[in-house]
Amino acid sequence: MSLPKLTVNEFKERIIDKLKSDYVKDIHEACENDIYYIISSIVNEEILPQWHATQQKYKEKNCKQVYYLSMEFLVGSLLESNLLNCGLLEQSNQALEMLGFKPEKIYAQEHDAGLGNGGLGRLAACFLDSLSSLYYAGHGYGIRYRYGLFEQRIIHGNQLELPDYWLKNRYPWESRKEDEAVCIHFHGDVHMFKKNDGSLEFKYKNTDKVMAVPYDIPVVGYQNDVINTLRLWSAESVYQEEDLTGDGSQYYHDLDHQHSIEQITGFLYPDDSSHEGKELRLKQQYFLVSSSIQNIIKNFKRNQKLSLSHLSEKVVIQINDTHPSLAIPELMRILLDEEHFSWESAWEVTTKVIAYTNHTTLSEALETWPKGMMQHLLPRIYMIIDEINERFCKGIWFDHEELREQIPELAIIAHEQIHMARLSIVGSFSVNGVARIHTEILKKKEMKHFYTLFPDRFNNKTNGITHRRWLLQVNPKLSNLITDVIGPKWVQRPKQLISLLKYSKDTSFLEKVDQVKRENKIRLANIIHERTGILVDDQSIFDVQIKRLHEYKRQLLNIFHIIYLYNELKEHPNLDITPRTFIFAAKAAPSYHLAKEVIKLIHTVASIVNYDSDIQGKLKVIFLENYNVSLAEKIIPAADISEQISTASKEASGTGNMKMMMNGAITVGTLDGANIEINDLVGDQNMFIFGLTADEVLDYYHHGGYNATDIYNTDDRVKRILDQLNQGEFGSHEIEFKDIYYNILYHNDPYFVLKDFEPYLETHELVERAYRDRLTWLNMSVTNIAYSGKFSSDRTIQEYATDIWKIKPV
Ligand SMILES: *Cc1c(COP(=O)(O)O)cnc(C)c1O
Repeated sequence: MSLPKLTVNEFKERIIDKLKSDYVKDIHEACENDIYYIISSIVNEEILPQWHATQQKYKEKNCKQVYYLSMEFLVGSLLESNLLNCGLLEQSNQALEMLGFKPEKIYAQEHDAGLGNGGLGRLAACFLDSLSSLYYAGHGYGIRYRYGLFEQRIIHGNQLELPDYWLKNRYPWESRKEDEAVCIHFHGDVHMFKKNDGSLEFKYKNTDKVMAVPYDIPVVGYQNDVINTLRLWSAESVYQEEDLTGDGSQYYHDLDHQHSIEQITGFLYPDDSSHEGKELRLKQQYFLVSSSIQNIIKNFKRNQKLSLSHLSEKVVIQINDTHPSLAIPELMRILLDEEHFSWESAWEVTTKVIAYTNHTTLSEALETWPKGMMQHLLPRIYMIIDEINERFCKGIWFDHEELREQIPELAIIAHEQIHMARLSIVGSFSVNGVARIHTEILKKKEMKHFYTLFPDRFNNKTNGITHRRWLLQVNPKLSNLITDVIGPKWVQRPKQLISLLKYSKDTSFLEKVDQVKRENKIRLANIIHERTGILVDDQSIFDVQIKRLHEYKRQLLNIFHIIYLYNELKEHPNLDITPRTFIFAAKAAPSYHLAKEVIKLIHTVASIVNYDSDIQGKLKVIFLENYNVSLAEKIIPAADISEQISTASKEASGTGNMKMMMNGAITVGTLDGANIEINDLVGDQNMFIFGLTADEVLDYYHHGGYNATDIYNTDDRVKRILDQLNQGEFGSHEIEFKDIYYNILYHNDPYFVLKDFEPYLETHELVERAYRDRLTWLNMSVTNIAYSGKFSSDRTIQEYATDIWKIKPV
């Protein structure tokens, strides 16, 4: 199978030789950045032949290919994970130490590829890792944004957004494939002709042409020589010979034009969980979809003797949320207009190839596009959507009389809007939610009529995370300790972490787990000190909430708890509580005013609490700026408490919850998303569940009965906190936090922060008590690690492969 890997000494010699040949430098002249590029190129030399061999193998075996289409891939940095997966991480670490470099400093030279907003993009990255590691022929298609998600700085408690120009330095993992470029058409006129046989033919005129050039990134499997491809498309202007003839008037080849084309892949939209209805975003979506589908069909024709009517035997396309849902009309367009399929046969092919993952039921996140915008930008695509809609609505009218009344809620085009989730359900063979409760809500509530129409389409695939990055790589000490007691098999079969249960009461093992957590906390405390100047007590409870800032995720509930504790300590300075360090990291969408107010509030509270000597350092509030994958990797191994406190029913799954569980943190959480499935495994005694259930929340939404003001009037602790916000006790001038105050009292607390406040406090009192009993706490921690194997994305990908994609490992 594998060739013998480099030894430490060979690795070291390769570094020295390459420095000489590529940089003409001796080792003592090299800077960390030089070494970063040297190691990357050593890894690339290992990868390239295997990448080629993997593609050859797929051709020989003629196997079915999975294409994962996603507007986001939040891959983070790749050097360390590529080293790990190539089986070279140990050698690299040791060689670097011998040469006098700190490995973590070298790996930190890489700028995160921030080509995603949060959970959805990170899921796509974990899936690619699992596809390769499990020997599946699965590839990603995405966009090569020149600017990723903004870099967050905090100035006086306010979020500042700086452009994230991640390509400033050469990115060593991508290779441009100009010969694979394809042409994308926007705008123009559609001409319809009747052919001799009576069928219709469609031709497009005066379209705006854009070149899509792919950049390929290798996706390295874990020590198995499989390298799949993440193909990212970049928009460039088209220069054709023919354009230079004629009067040239329609081909404004000026810089403005070029600039406007390059803008298509200029930046990632920074909105998470809310829909940004801009024409440029729609352009991006079609650009991704059209280039990817053209490429998929070209590959199929290159490798197959079969007709395209057999496409579904060799190809399956998974769309990550509705963002790539134009894949449905785009595949129809190619089959109809270029391959001259009948509508019926084109539809049969399309609906056997496309599978759709739903990520949310939040209404503000369900995508719709104005009909007029679609008509103007993508006239032929609009016609096809219109026809899909007509046929779908007719089908309901004639075959499902009981749903006639519901047609306006089901129609793909309604009230001048195109509903992308409806298009995705109608045009695919599989619709999956991302955690059990989420799928149940889709089936029973949000999409119940669609479920009546297509009961076999709906299925659940609970999300996962790659345990290679999120345990092996980020927490090598814990990983080694696990291997010491249960052997190394869990690395290939993460469910075997369950064997740890045998040691969950073994005091000497628990002491070692404790020691590892302490070392990880000291490391994080140092990072906190470097970045914020604040000294935190590494014996304190590290209580962590890191995720995008959103009302439904309820960072506000967490900060209310902190204010409450602070008020208590001010009144009773000698209150005997275990010191706590509250750690936040979160980006707010630039246009999300309330989210930014919460960031400001966290900082304001921090600026009071952290410097008030009355409370004797018992509370510290830390906000680490610029939350991204690299920061998550530093925080998660050090977490004692994982805050997963979304309003029940709102968080489709969550994956931060899984990362922290796998690193031995105990969850404080609502019965929402995958928290429920964590709870099924570890039981109430090994996590802290509180608050409203999803049914209760949905019931309040539908039938009313909740009054936030009542709680304000009856709970002195709540009243005190809200009044402190309103009266400017936190803040330099009076109006600072009035918006938060008004949102809770005059918009009736839409996310039930006050309703869940008391149960949340009570739960934290239990946390406090549990933490004092060290061995019990460590037992809980190990129990969580032991059950976390289920949440490896390997399990998720195996489920997609067998239930949806019908593929086997190659
Ligand atoms: C895992 C991850 C997320 C998702 O976190 P949730 O808590 O599930 O919302 C978002 N951003 C980054 C950088 C992550 O690593």
